[in-house]
Amino acid sequence: MPRDLVRRGLPSGLVARVVVTDSRDGDLAPQADSAALEIRQAGVAPAPWTWLRQVHGAGVVEVRWPGDRHGATADAAVTNRVGCTLSVTVADCAPVAILADGGGLAVVHAGWRGILGGVIESAMDLLSDVTVGPFRAVIGPCINACCYAFGVDDLERVVAHLGDGAGGKTRTGHPALDLPAAVIATLRGVGVVESEVDGTCTSCDDDYWSYRSTGTRERHAMAAWLEPA
Ligand SMILES: [Zn+2]
Repeated sequence: MPRDLVRRGLPSGLVARVVVTDSRDGDLAPQADSAALEIRQAGVAPAPWTWLRQVHGAGVVEVRWPGDRHGATADAAVTNRVGCTLSVTVADCAPVAILADGGGLAVVHAGWRGILGGVIESAMDLLSDVTVGPFRAVIGPCINACCYAFGVDDLERVVAHLGDGAGGKTRTGHPALDLPAAVIATLRGVGVVESEVDGTCTSCDDDYWSYRSTGTRERHAMAAWLEPA
């Protein structure tokens, strides 16, 4: 069953919904068979969805009606309209939702390349264009430091950009990227006042797909939308 991460009345009067799926909800990767995919999507959140061709970049799209911009090449989406289901699909990267008190939300596919490329900044720029804050975020299941051994050179680049908090250790003591910490540091840098972390590690927990563990092409999803109060 899809799991509610957020069901929150915003000061604007709208209700923000954020759900995440796991492997028991089926593969939600956009390359899956489209009829079956649409049925699975509709079981999770109002259809049609805006799904993205994610490329670990910093592209962001504004969604103005349900299904608008579906299939766009981007790693984040923003809306201030009721009933538009935004989504990202992941298998270790962090799915992030940013909620605006003014009545809007964004979803972001945040891996380390996208973070360094500025995807969170791009999403916040566009979200700030369509609504007002304060802004609060929730970070869904993703790979945690326990399982995210990292090359020393790449880790130095990330830490130089995001601070020492992004560096961690695996369970066996190898240098690791702390992806949730990296996301939180970036969100704080763009003025997000509060970040909740789900905390589930997609590599430790067998209910989630993990690209890093198995090389899978299957993906779980974060979906987010606005409802009337
Ligand atoms: Zn782990």
